[in-house]
Amino acid sequence: MKARKLQLYTKILIGLVLGAIVGVLANKFGFSVQVTSYIKPFGIAFIRLISLIVVPLVFASLLLGTASLNDIRKLGRVGGKTMVYYLATTAIAITIGLVLANLLGPGKGLDAETKERLMVNYQAEAASKIEQATKQPGVAEVLLDIIPTNPAKSFADGEMLQIIFFALFFGVTITLIPKEKTKTLLSFFEGLNEAMIKMVGIIMEFAPFGVFALIAAIIGEFGAAILLTLAKYSAVVLIGLAVHALVTYPLLLKIFSKVTIFDFFKAIRPAQLIAFSSSSSSATLPVTMECAEEGLGVSKDISSFVLPLGATINMDGTALYQGVAAVFIAQVFGMDLSIGQQLMIVLTATLASIGAAGVPGVGMITLALVLQTAGIPLEGIALILGVDRFLDMCRTAVNVTGDVSCTVVVASTEGSLNYIPGAAQQIAEDAAGKS
Ligand code: ASP
Repeated sequence: MKARKLQLYTKILIGLVLGAIVGVLANKFGFSVQVTSYIKPFGIAFIRLISLIVVPLVFASLLLGTASLNDIRKLGRVGGKTMVYYLATTAIAITIGLVLANLLGPGKGLDAETKERLMVNYQAEAASKIEQATKQPGVAEVLLDIIPTNPAKSFADGEMLQIIFFALFFGVTITLIPKEKTKTLLSFFEGLNEAMIKMVGIIMEFAPFGVFALIAAIIGEFGAAILLTLAKYSAVVLIGLAVHALVTYPLLLKIFSKVTIFDFFKAIRPAQLIAFSSSSSSATLPVTMECAEEGLGVSKDISSFVLPLGATINMDGTALYQGVAAVFIAQVFGMDLSIGQQLMIVLTATLASIGAAGVPGVGMITLALVLQTAGIPLEGIALILGVDRFLDMCRTAVNVTGDVSCTVVVASTEGSLNYIPGAAQQIAEDAAGKS
């Protein structure tokens, strides 16, 4: 069994490396158009397949989780802990980004010619991002929006916060009705839930090919050269992400749970790889849930509450990157950011990460809001657009890591963590073998 488990992860990794090689070759020898036309669709098919599970899986598992909690107080406690953890780690992440960018000064060395070239090349794209950002609703509107007036519309549009709200409300209501009246309803959702979990397992068999296609297409289209132009900026973002993933989370796990860093990272590797290849924490959600439950022993009621929320509202990697990006752009434009401005960045980036959906490139749009509140020129977005796709992949992997760390901490403090050190590293692939 162990061999099968290792195999899935190894196969995904092989897909990633081969995809990178094909992408580099395609870019170098000019066949990236063919890669985009013939290989990329397999990657898109994979993303679509895992995305199709998200809505039914989240709804069914959250409803069952809430209905089985049978206790409103527990729900309030779990919700409170989750929000505190998500907000605190997001604020820590931006602070790491700001401190590193101030210390290392990535924007100070950028020569005028490169700046000019980037500004000209990405001007139009930057303008469209800024336009999208200015269309974002205000805080009150975002909060009111969480209450769906028509749940069917929320299902159809995949609006996660609204679906979560409806599932929680529905689940709590079920606990207030005599059991014999809800038996059939609950067993229907149990069946749906099981079928969705089985589906994740089946789709994951296709993951190595999907990852191969996605990586080949991305590298083929963009090439690795742009990374060199913005090497210092990219390096600061990557160092920050590494610090957050390898210091902040392990520290919190150590304080609040017995899960070892080794087991933690081993169990979540499939989710991290899918997040990296897809740049979407929402699409990764079914795999993330599988890793937390099967690999780390988080109970279903906790993971089905904490993880869907996290995929939507918790984006530590994104927030950290926004901190670095804001300081970088300010430095290139020769601005010195005051402490007040930097605190505004912490606040806006934390709030922006709640409202934004876990889909590719969204961090770049909310960055415009962050820049605006700190008084940094919005057109500076053009400077960093070229490397955004790659950094998006990395920050999404951190976003997902943060979601799982919160789930482990909440489960551990609730006594809902059935963790066996060094064992039970079952990963999503197992679902395929389960009946
Ligand atoms: N792609 C990220 C996610 O889905 C969001 C972002 O940073 O753009 O988590």
